[in-house]
Amino acid sequence: MDFQPFHNWIPGSSRPLVVAGPCSAESEVQVMQTARALAQIPAVKVFRAGIWKPRTRPGQFEGVGTAGLVWLRQVKEETGLLTTVEVAKPSHVTEALNHGIDILWIGARTVVNPFSMQELAEALAGTDIPVMVKNPVNPDLKLWMGAIERLFKTGITRIAAVHRGFYQAEKTQYRNAPLWEIPIELMRQMPGLPVLCDPSHISGNRTLIPRISQQAMDLEMDGLMVETHPDPDKAWTDAVQQVTPETLGNILGNLILREKKGSHEFERNLEQLRHEIDLIDYEMIRLLAKRMNIAEEMGQYKYSHNITILQLERWKELFADRIKKGSKAGLDTRFLAALLRLVHEQSIQIQTNVMNRREEE
Ligand code: PEP
Ligand code: MN
Repeated sequence: MDFQPFHNWIPGSSRPLVVAGPCSAESEVQVMQTARALAQIPAVKVFRAGIWKPRTRPGQFEGVGTAGLVWLRQVKEETGLLTTVEVAKPSHVTEALNHGIDILWIGARTVVNPFSMQELAEALAGTDIPVMVKNPVNPDLKLWMGAIERLFKTGITRIAAVHRGFYQAEKTQYRNAPLWEIPIELMRQMPGLPVLCDPSHISGNRTLIPRISQQAMDLEMDGLMVETHPDPDKAWTDAVQQVTPETLGNILGNLILREKKGSHEFERNLEQLRHEIDLIDYEMIRLLAKRMNIAEEMGQYKYSHNITILQLERWKELFADRIKKGSKAGLDTRFLAALLRLVHEQSIQIQTNVMNRREEE
């Protein structure tokens, strides 16, 4: 798939491209005040505002609707910023297009549903409007890619992905866990696709925004979408995570933009380190294969002596022992625990396969 880089669809854009504006458009005054302040920040090229708000429960503020589209047109005319709104159904697309909105975005709650995505893609066919696709609420890369593919198939090539974090049942410091490996895999599988990070919805709390924005830059993402409000604490939606335009200016000013490529000497040294990593990975693969061969042998042995596969006491001891050794060696315990569980699971699987095979003989 040939995606268009940001500079082909957003005039004057450079890294980081910043999309900013309130979670929700609330009033003409709030929208205009935010937009005027944001227009003073050079990196901000696109003004966002939600006007149809997906709310978890009914009875909450659900957006100002079509009235907001008129305010956004005014933003564009007065400040020159491009404008973007969230669309969740075909009628939103029609209304947004009728009001001259420049870019659409599709929210996390919509991307989870292939029926909605297909309907939207059909509504967008032939419009040639750029679309930003947030990641689905749940950590499912295929759904995210599927949504992008549905749009691409209708002829839309100006597409960007927006990484806004993922719902996780366990409580973490984030509102939506970043799970960086997922957008990294997206970038690997869809090279050339512009990717923004939305640190506001990842953090759910304005204090974490600088750190997440920096991390996004260090992972070679192209830009940021940041919720911005003139008086964040009084915002009608997502109050805790919004920042003032002034704070946004400071956050952007403090970002360190590292080069993607270094000097010759740097590249040579990096190559050397990469080579060492390669060798370690090959060694790990060799050892894992050896470990699995032994698991196979154990499966055979247990089968012929009529012994169960899972030996709970042994697993408990092994786990505790490896965690102790690993933490002494400076490994992160959560990482090591996940790795051990994965290896153990595979080892059980191999032994189960042995038993099944032998039963069939
Ligand atoms: C938003 O950007 O305000 C929004 C509703 O985001 P998400 O779809 O990521 O929850
Ligand atoms: Mn929001």
